[in-house]
Amino acid sequence: MISVKCPHCKVGLKVDEEKIPKGITSFKCPKCKQEISVSLLRELQEERRASGSDTIVIPTSKKGRGKLVVFPNEYTPEQTFPLEEEGLYIVGRKASASKANICIDTKDKSMSRSHIRIEVKKSAQGSPIHSLSDNQSKNHTLYNGRYLGEEEVIVLKNNDEIVIGDTKLQFRE
Ligand SMILES: [Zn+2]
Repeated sequence: MISVKCPHCKVGLKVDEEKIPKGITSFKCPKCKQEISVSLLRELQEERRASGSDTIVIPTSKKGRGKLVVFPNEYTPEQTFPLEEEGLYIVGRKASASKANICIDTKDKSMSRSHIRIEVKKSAQGSPIHSLSDNQSKNHTLYNGRYLGEEEVIVLKNNDEIVIGDTKLQFRE
């Protein structure tokens, strides 16, 4: 039995390690219902053994969660979109017939309505992986200063820069 603090709501929990089913990557906090990573728990337990302290404090975002920052320019106000939930995000210019689920408020007509795709998946360790590709956009996508190939998929890292149309975006963990 180990004592942990929920990283989200800070409630103290007693976790019986034997009862955590094998193969699951996370479990829900009984109080706030948010996910707690099992691998992180094990990792922190090792640290606790080494330090001799009783309670494990799990940091909220050890691996980062992900967001997309839109830099302001003459066509575009500053905007930020979360990339936390797993799933496929289509990013593009906000318009009435847009199929995007991240719709950027901009007058930048060189940005397509469905310009890039970002897929968010969890790794086996429970940390999110953000994969970027161009969505067959008319004006293509600049990634850290070079154009993405048609079939190319990039795993985003903190502070990576993406330019779609005349608008600069940045990925942050
Ligand atoms: Zn909680």
